[in-house]
Amino acid sequence: DVNDTLGHAVGDRLLVEVAHALRASMRSGDLATRLGGDEFAVLLRHVTDPETATQRAREVASRLERPFAVDGVTLEVGVSIGVALRPWHGDDIGTLLQRADVAMYRAKREGSGVRLYEPADQPGDDIRLELLAELRGAIERGELRLHFQPKIALRTGRTIGFEALVRWQHPERGLLLPAAFLPAAERTALMRPLTDWVLREAIRSCAGWRAAGWDVDVAVNVSPSTLLDEDFPTLVTGLLAAEALPGHALELEITETAAMVDPQRTADTLLRLQAMGVRVSIDDFGAGYTSLSYLKNLPISALKVDRGFVTNLLTDRADEAVTRTVVQLAHDLGLLVVAEGVETAEVQQRLVELGCDEAQGYVIARPMEPSSVLDWLAD
Ligand code: C2E
Ligand code: CA
Ligand code: CA
Ligand code: CA
Repeated sequence: DVNDTLGHAVGDRLLVEVAHALRASMRSGDLATRLGGDEFAVLLRHVTDPETATQRAREVASRLERPFAVDGVTLEVGVSIGVALRPWHGDDIGTLLQRADVAMYRAKREGSGVRLYEPADQPGDDIRLELLAELRGAIERGELRLHFQPKIALRTGRTIGFEALVRWQHPERGLLLPAAFLPAAERTALMRPLTDWVLREAIRSCAGWRAAGWDVDVAVNVSPSTLLDEDFPTLVTGLLAAEALPGHALELEITETAAMVDPQRTADTLLRLQAMGVRVSIDDFGAGYTSLSYLKNLPISALKVDRGFVTNLLTDRADEAVTRTVVQLAHDLGLLVVAEGVETAEVQQRLVELGCDEAQGYVIARPMEPSSVLDWLAD
């Protein structure tokens, strides 16, 4: 940020000073590199315990925090350092750098100088805010991608459709999963253009698969805020019409929270969607706090058992009990049940026995690039 305040000449000189100070705190065999902007990475060899690593980082920080004289101006630098250690936090340099980055944003946010990566750390809000600022441009530049994960009928094994999952092909950070940018976008005006893009792209893709002769549908995740938007059903109608896709080929997956914010408005929106044949399922069922009375009153067609219950079905009796109960409940209410997060053939088999209708998961297929969908169907 120094460039904005003092101009590039001073900013660049300061970075050179910082680099010198960094070098002064390094030992033989260590490496340092500038990652870009005002970010540096330092690789310390022969450090095998977290205490020593943190201690060395503190030495670096205190050296960098001494005032610098640049062109007759005295400058002080605030330093945030994130530490990740092999083998504790990862084995390869990419993982270590990414984790150090997460810890660094944490340090920055908490105002502490040095912070060791903790496995429970999530990308900090800072990083999310930076990404958020770039997201609008990303939509316009066409950096968003959809990957598609097959959903099969458990009795026949037939692929009945695909769930669209958004990714961001970030020019520097690589392929970002939704967790890296959606939570920050959710409460902002950006969610609308993002949802528009996802829906348009998903509908267009599905129309393509159907034109190629496959009777499959597409499922799109919609955020709670989307459902509270009264124009949403009109948008969906327009997009379906543009690709001549029948409403019944589109399924919307909503989480339980959506229904809880404003049950009446959500029900109105869902009824208008239902009138076009669009189906709605409740995602992550069991993980939240759905009041069963909502279920009775909402026009929905399926429950997706949260993958937290499915993945360990065979080893965790409580998980099996929940899944069994959800299957029963759904069928009593006249709804389909979908299990997500199916990672082994054994779990898949057990789901068949439990009477579950549909399944998704890594053992069937991971989310795939659009170009792989027709090959998958033909296999
Ligand atoms: P979700 O709707 O529950 O999607 C399923 C997530 O589980 C996906 O993660 C998928 O890649 C992952 N998954 C699938 N099969 C397995 C498995 O067998 N094991 C495990 N461990 N994971 C599996 P992903 O793509 O990272 O998406 C995360 C969440 O982001 C989604 O959870 C959904 O809530 C949200 N999301 C994704 N795309 C969109 C979108 O276009 N719009 C909105 N509003 N939300 C989206
Ligand atoms: Ca900075
Ligand atoms: Ca979903
Ligand atoms: Ca889910």
